Amino acid sequence: MPPEPHKTNCRFVAARIRLGVPRADGRRVGERDRQVHFVSLPDDRPAPLVLRTLCGDPLAREVTELLDHIAGMPCVRCLAHVPEARRAAHESRRSA
Ligand SMILES: [Zn+2]
Repeated sequence: MPPEPHKTNCRFVAARIRLGVPRADGRRVGERDRQVHFVSLPDDRPAPLVLRTLCGDPLAREVTELLDHIAGMPCVRCLAHVPEARRAAHESRRSA
């Protein structure tokens, strides 16, 4: 069997912060704050405590919902990074 060219060790999942979580500035998270970010998660390990989104915003796992579909407004900065992150995932696998 030839190796599968598109297989990687990580997957992209959509993630957003839960409603009502206190923010650093003292407000609580409302619908306006709930952009759907994309996170690259390792397949073979549990998700880290702080999820690093493709756009660079850290999301604490305990206040984050992982979605199996995109609901609501996607983060455009994350969307812009998807092709790049995909390529990086392929390259790190190849050199491993
Ligand atoms: Zn984002």
